[in-house]
Amino acid sequence: MPITSSTLTNTVLTIPAPGETALKEKPYPVCGPGFVIIDVAIAPVCNEARIYRDHQFEWHDSPEHLGHEGVGTVAEVAAGSRFSVGDRVIVFQGNSCQECFVCTQGLSPTHCLGIPYEGFDDGMAPQDVTAGLLGIEKVNGSESGGFAMARYRLAPEHMIMTLPDDLSFEHAAAGNCTLGCTYTAAEETGVKAGDVVIVGGVGFIGLGAIVNAIYRGATVVVLGRNDYRMDLCRQLGVAAVIDPDDDDWLEQIHAFTGDRGGADVAFECSGAPYYLDRCFTGLRRYGSLFSMGFLGSGDYTVSILNTVMDRHISWTGGHDVRFRDRDGLLRMLGDAAVQRNIDILTTHSFPMSEASDAFDTGLTKNCGKIYLRPAE
Ligand SMILES: [Zn+2]
Ligand SMILES: [Zn+2]
Repeated sequence: MPITSSTLTNTVLTIPAPGETALKEKPYPVCGPGFVIIDVAIAPVCNEARIYRDHQFEWHDSPEHLGHEGVGTVAEVAAGSRFSVGDRVIVFQGNSCQECFVCTQGLSPTHCLGIPYEGFDDGMAPQDVTAGLLGIEKVNGSESGGFAMARYRLAPEHMIMTLPDDLSFEHAAAGNCTLGCTYTAAEETGVKAGDVVIVGGVGFIGLGAIVNAIYRGATVVVLGRNDYRMDLCRQLGVAAVIDPDDDDWLEQIHAFTGDRGGADVAFECSGAPYYLDRCFTGLRRYGSLFSMGFLGSGDYTVSILNTVMDRHISWTGGHDVRFRDRDGLLRMLGDAAVQRNIDILTTHSFPMSEASDAFDTGLTKNCGKIYLRPAE
């Protein structure tokens, strides 16, 4: 135990009101068995810019509990830990039960049965959930550290992985919602060399989906309109950027898919019906649509007969990295071409003390992935 832990505090990012951020000093985290305390190097921005704008929270967030992505250095371990102070790690989100069929089959912790989605009311969890990020401070009896946008973060040992010595924090930090969730989506949809992949509604998740598909040797066509992001897509190496408002947008996709008559896989990254419709339409028979974006918990209408059955489309979605994908993901993050693309899509980096600037930048959409640095 570092002798400093009794005197240290934890600096935590808060969003007390719409359009406002503030740093708050809280007690240093309490680390129980099976947990470590991490000195956070990078806490990437995910849904927090939207929270900063709307002050509407997802079930696991609150004004003083923000951030789920991150990398850093182990600062404290509990007795019997398999980790050591000084280990460089990536933190995957949540605190899954390790016992249910999702956890024991190597699936995604975000979909662990410890999180009672079936009991959610309008997308919100009951307040007594101990799985997921919400439970981390509870089970440790800690007043801080359960979330990523903090100087010190508590993480369950089964949710962290040691980084190879030659993998920088900047490249590893792409392993959460940018290249990580999309790695699992690419695995689940079986993207392979020679496939044509549509990516629609491109934010940083879409950029991550593009990097994954290119890494696998697929031809990527993007449906999008934001000039800044379309330029990033071209730099990443996509085959085409198609304006989905063009009258011939579908013919432009078909120019890449030959007699298959559509793309093999579509990654829809916005949740907007405008893009969902086009992703469905752009797929070939027996194609797969993977949803990685959403707009609240609202509905979307699809024809069971004309789309799902007659055209035999598979549709699923998710937002996490499966346990079984972590090794492959870390190998991908070590690839030189992938690292070059991470450098392209990571467009901004801010000290956590300038989080308002980071979120304002996120809301302009003239950005790719944005990193926050809690120690600065
Ligand atoms: Zn995220
Ligand atoms: Zn579980």
